[in-house]
Amino acid sequence: MTSSSVRTRFAPSPTGYLHLGGARTALFSWAFARHHQGTFVLRIEDTDLERSTPEAVQAILDGMQWLSLEADEGPFYQMQRAERHKEVITNMLAEGTAYYCYSTPEEVEQMRESAKAKGLKPKYDGTWRPEPGKTLPAIPEGRKPVVRFKNPTEGAVSWNDMLKGTITIENAELDDLIIARPDGTPTYNFCVVVDDWDMRISHVIRGDDHINNTPRQINILQALGAPLPEYGHVPMILGPDGQKLSKRHGAVSIMDYEKQGYLPEAMVNYLARLGWSHGDDEIFSREQLVEWFDTRNLSKSAAQWDPKKLNWVNAHY
Ligand code: GLU
Repeated sequence: MTSSSVRTRFAPSPTGYLHLGGARTALFSWAFARHHQGTFVLRIEDTDLERSTPEAVQAILDGMQWLSLEADEGPFYQMQRAERHKEVITNMLAEGTAYYCYSTPEEVEQMRESAKAKGLKPKYDGTWRPEPGKTLPAIPEGRKPVVRFKNPTEGAVSWNDMLKGTITIENAELDDLIIARPDGTPTYNFCVVVDDWDMRISHVIRGDDHINNTPRQINILQALGAPLPEYGHVPMILGPDGQKLSKRHGAVSIMDYEKQGYLPEAMVNYLARLGWSHGDDEIFSREQLVEWFDTRNLSKSAAQWDPKKLNWVNAHY
């Protein structure tokens, strides 16, 4: 089954149930991998210790199982890779692509404010950023540093998004991202980069709420000398009233639909049609979805949730 170099992943943060948007992202990543005889990886991003719960992990696994979105590899748990993340940070510090920053959050806030007052982009001002010939300030006593990525200051980051076309962001727009907190724990954006690299992910298909992270992640991958995956950012699902899909539109957890007796095949069919199409085909099998799945047929605009349509699909299975 896994005879190509295509490797996709679904990387949910277990901070709540598996919602419809997450399930659809998982489905697209799964279908893309299957279509290309590739590998679909499941990675649970549980590094947010305050918000991650075992119940949410279970809800994600249950939802994936109900929809039969089997992973070829994983579930991997990001927390279990903490040593690896720290190792990469140590290497970056040694190579000079990252540096210790002793500015406090209050100081950084002031830097942003004063940049804003001058009509500039609110950013960290680079006080602790090493440059040839520059003398860094004396380290304040008792202060624990964060680690920042030394983002390039010149040029631009550009990628050809599978859905949105070419996106270009000037490096001058980007901050030196914090990649480790004062207690040494690596931050979310950084862990994603290392994991995508180590897991040889070739295509990152995810919600377009992550689009701002992509140029930062690309810069880090480049600093690491890692190959760049393709990116595809899927627009969100809106409620029937055109607003962001939420509880007031009814069930937003995938497993609520299981409890209500919906057929998983109907749910897969309906979720696939939310933002993807194959001509006028309304009802299709999982095999047909895999055969037909092509990111060129993914919609560039937000899809609208329609419970009547779901009921119609469910009745036709
Ligand atoms: N863990 C992130 C989330 O659940 C997704 C990360 C990614 O797909 O890159 O929103």
